[in-house]
Amino acid sequence: MMMTTMPEFLALIGKPRLHTIPLESYFGHTYVCSCGFAHVFDDKTKVLCEGYNRMILVCPKTSLFLTNVRIRTLLIEVYGGLDGAFGTFVETAEDNCLLNDYLAKVWDNPEFHWLLS
Ligand SMILES: [Zn+2]
Repeated sequence: MMMTTMPEFLALIGKPRLHTIPLESYFGHTYVCSCGFAHVFDDKTKVLCEGYNRMILVCPKTSLFLTNVRIRTLLIEVYGGLDGAFGTFVETAEDNCLLNDYLAKVWDNPEFHWLLS
C-alpha cells in the first residue's frame, strides 16, 4: 500500500465521477485498506467515487483513511477481485478542505461537506 499526501492522492484519482458500478458483485471480497487492515466489502462500505476500474473507499474503522481500490478484471468484463493500490490519511484541516472541494465537484454541489468522524 502506497501512502500519499492528500494533494498527491487527489491528483492520482484524477477526474471526479459519481459511483455507478453495481456494488453487489463486490460483497464478501476483502481489500487492504490504507489504515493497514484488511476489510470485507459489504453493504456498509462507503464508496466516495469511482474511476475506470477503480473506486475510492472510506475506511469503516475511521473515515480519515481513504483507499483507491483497483477492480481486477480477468477477462474484459469479468470481475476478479479488489486490490488496494494507494491511500491517504486526512491529517490536517487543509487536507479536509482539499477533499471537500474535490467531493463538491464529484457531486456538482458546492455546498457539499464530507463529515469526518
Ligand atoms: Zn481501514
